[in-house]
Amino acid sequence: MNTSPVPAGSFAVWLTQIQQALRGIGGTDVPCGECVGCCVSSYYIPLRASDAPVAAQVPPALLHVTGPAEAPQQWMAYGADGHCPMLRNRQCTVYAQRPQTCRDYDCRIFAAAGIAAGDAVRHVINERVAAWQFNYDSPAERRTHEAVTAAAAFIAAHECDIAGIRFPAGPTGIAVLALKVHGVFLDDALNGADAPTLAWAIIAASKAFEAGG
Ligand code: SF4
Repeated sequence: MNTSPVPAGSFAVWLTQIQQALRGIGGTDVPCGECVGCCVSSYYIPLRASDAPVAAQVPPALLHVTGPAEAPQQWMAYGADGHCPMLRNRQCTVYAQRPQTCRDYDCRIFAAAGIAAGDAVRHVINERVAAWQFNYDSPAERRTHEAVTAAAAFIAAHECDIAGIRFPAGPTGIAVLALKVHGVFLDDALNGADAPTLAWAIIAASKAFEAGG
């Protein structure tokens, strides 16, 4: 595995950007370099109405549709090699028009959460996740990163079904929720709290994030 360090940038700057992206405001600029991990890792990519130019180029056998007839959801599947059908010679052939999901994907969420992107089928991404190195301008910034990691570890280790809200089980869901609720693990009043108390606090923090807090 090649895990030579790759600069991930300022953690504080990135955290602000990714939280805005999770609110649908702006996005992050991922320094992918030569990495095409997310294009070769057997991802089903949802296609929105704005992705119609790409959908028109997907081989019919790899264009899947789910959901009810009145609200169908299109998906771009992957080839037998796990590669996106739009990838040729390690280049995205629709880069200027690439789907919104591709624009939004930032595997630094896994580095921030301290978890892998998935199992062996995601090994290329996992190598990059292991290589990312954030930098920190202050101890507080490092503690914030540690809080995101602690939140992800808690969410991954606990089943929760409170008020109809469940903790996610997959890596992306865990990382995203940890980024939204990490403040729980910076709250001195919750230091040493039991698991149910922390779970309630996470649910409350998640709702506050969704409400724009
Ligand atoms: S559409 Fe382009 S950026 Fe998106 S997964 Fe396929 S090759 Fe990669």
